[in-house]
Amino acid sequence: MKAYERLLKYAVIKTPPSDESSDSTPSSACQFDLANLLKKEMEELEVSDIQLTDNCFLYGKLPATKGYENAPGIGFIAHVDTVSDYCEHEIQPIITENYNGKELALGNSGLTLSPKMFLHLESLKGHTLITTDGNTILGADDKAGIAEIMTLVEHLQKESIPHGPISIAFTPDEEIGTGASHFDVELFGADFAYTLDGSTEGELEYENFNACSASFDIHGVSVHPGSAKDTMINACLLAMEINSLLPLHETPRDTEGYEGFYHLINMNGDCGHATLNYIVRDHDTEKFQYRKDKLIDIANELNQKWGGDGTVDLCIKDQYFNMKNIIEEHMHLIDNAKLACEKAGLIPNVSPIRGGTDGCQLSFRGLPCPDIGTGAYGYHGPYEHISAQSMDKVVDMIIELVRIYSTFSKEK
Ligand SMILES: [Zn+2]
Repeated sequence: MKAYERLLKYAVIKTPPSDESSDSTPSSACQFDLANLLKKEMEELEVSDIQLTDNCFLYGKLPATKGYENAPGIGFIAHVDTVSDYCEHEIQPIITENYNGKELALGNSGLTLSPKMFLHLESLKGHTLITTDGNTILGADDKAGIAEIMTLVEHLQKESIPHGPISIAFTPDEEIGTGASHFDVELFGADFAYTLDGSTEGELEYENFNACSASFDIHGVSVHPGSAKDTMINACLLAMEINSLLPLHETPRDTEGYEGFYHLINMNGDCGHATLNYIVRDHDTEKFQYRKDKLIDIANELNQKWGGDGTVDLCIKDQYFNMKNIIEEHMHLIDNAKLACEKAGLIPNVSPIRGGTDGCQLSFRGLPCPDIGTGAYGYHGPYEHISAQSMDKVVDMIIELVRIYSTFSKEK
C-alpha cells in the first residue's frame, strides 16, 4: 500500500485531544480509535512485541535480520492526535491527480489553496495532491508521519530488506504537550530515534527553543481617585510599565530563525491587582538566561521604585530546553539523515524549530530524537495539504536511513 493511501485511511478517523485542562492521558478516547486500527495493521505486518498501553501508546518492534544484531537500535515515532481546531465536520480528504500547480478550490467551502500563499505549490505540479474540502484540517500532522512509518515497515517486511533492530511508537496528545511524559523509553528499547513530525520533505530538525513561562503578579494600592495623590499605585499602569521595559521588537511577530522573543500571552487587571503572563523563547542557552535575568531585573527595579518587595511578584517556570545540547553528541543522527535524503533524491535542509517537539523531551530522557519532515504543509488549518509523491520520497528516505544504520555497530 502507498503511504498516501494509508494517510487517507487514517485521516478520516478524527483524533483531536480534549482541551488542555484534561489531566488524563490520553486526553480523549477517540485517539484509541486510530491506535486500535494501527495495532491491527501492525499485527498483519507481523510486527513483534506489539503493546497498546492504557495511556494509548502503541509500541512495536522489528527484530534485527539475522547477522545484523549488532547494528544500533533505531526508532521511529509519530503522534496519533491532531489539533482540535477545524474538527466539527467529518474529514473528507480530496485527491487531485496531476495537480496543475495553480489555484485550487477546496470543495465548496469558498477557500482556495493558492500558490500566492504557499509558494512551493508550483513545485508540486504533476503530483497527486491531497487536500481538505476546506471545512476541516487534513490531519497530515501527524498522520502522514504514521503512514510513512507503517509503509516503511511494510517495505522492510515484504521486500526482506536487511536491517538492525527497529522500534516504532505512535503516541497520544502531542499537540497539547502532555503525551511525551508518559513515553516508556525503556520499553521502546531503541538507542536513538526520529520523530516524523516536521513539514517539508528533506527537512531535518534538531534545534528547538529553550522555553519558560514568566508570570507577573502586580499588587497596586487602590484608593478613591479624588484623594489619591501620592497614595494610589495603579497595578495596570505598573503592568504597562513592565512591558515598556522589554525590547520593543523582540516579539513573535518581529522574529524568525534563531531570534528569540518575549510573548505576552495575556494580561488582566484593575487598579488594585494585575497580571501579565509571558512565554520566553530562545535557542541560545546564554541568551535564554539573559532574557530571564532581564525579567528579574525589571521586577526588582519596580519593587524598589514602588514600595518594596511584594508589589511585583515574578514567577519563572522552565518548560523545555534545546535538544541540540544532546544531539550534538550524536551528530551521526543528522549526518546520516542528510545522506539518506540525498540517496532518496531529496535536498536535506537543516532548520531550527521555533517551538518544541516530543523528541526534545525524549532526548533529555536518554533517547536522542531529532525530527524528519513528512512532506506536509499548512498545518493546523483547512489549507493543510501533502502530495503522494512527497510521501513516497520520505518513505524512500527512511528506508535508506535504515539501510545506512544496518551497516553500523552500536555506539560503545
Ligand atoms: Zn505534529
